[in-house]
Amino acid sequence: MKKGLRQPDPLGQMKQEKDDNYWMGMAIREANKAGAIGEVPIGAVVVRDGKVLGRGYNLREKSLDPTSHAEMTAIRRAAKKAENWRLLGATLYVTLEPCAMCMGAIILARMERVVFGCHDPKAGAAGSLYDLSNDARLNHRVALTSGVRGEECAGLLSSFFAALRRNKKQFLVFGFGF
Ligand SMILES: [Zn+2]
Repeated sequence: MKKGLRQPDPLGQMKQEKDDNYWMGMAIREANKAGAIGEVPIGAVVVRDGKVLGRGYNLREKSLDPTSHAEMTAIRRAAKKAENWRLLGATLYVTLEPCAMCMGAIILARMERVVFGCHDPKAGAAGSLYDLSNDARLNHRVALTSGVRGEECAGLLSSFFAALRRNKKQFLVFGFGF
């Protein structure tokens, strides 16, 4: 067997799927916290060695900060908890595909893996508009898994925007665009 070539590991894969579903559940709970205060429901969790390092949710409206994405809060808190800006070996779970800024932060933090729920066709930088996870010009690669509890994650967003429309608030929706 060639060095580095792995045998299929169905049990390991099943465990990873189970873990991914579990941690995405926590990201969904974070997203719901955002939704409860009128923010677009997007949530994120940083996990390493089975432990939560940081979590966060979208707070763009409350903070009046265009960079207050769920991932940024989760990454900042994780780095603080780890007492290290390098989050080697960490996985970021997020309900919506990260944008270019957040993928930039993920790469700067040298994270190992990103798992997201639904795609963002208007702003996604992990496959939709760009794929910053695997660009040979950058000095770091990130493993990607998409579609974990994807329908649930997309459902949070579509019901949030449907409720906004029902409330007849003025709100122009051009897709998600985060
Ligand atoms: Zn973002």
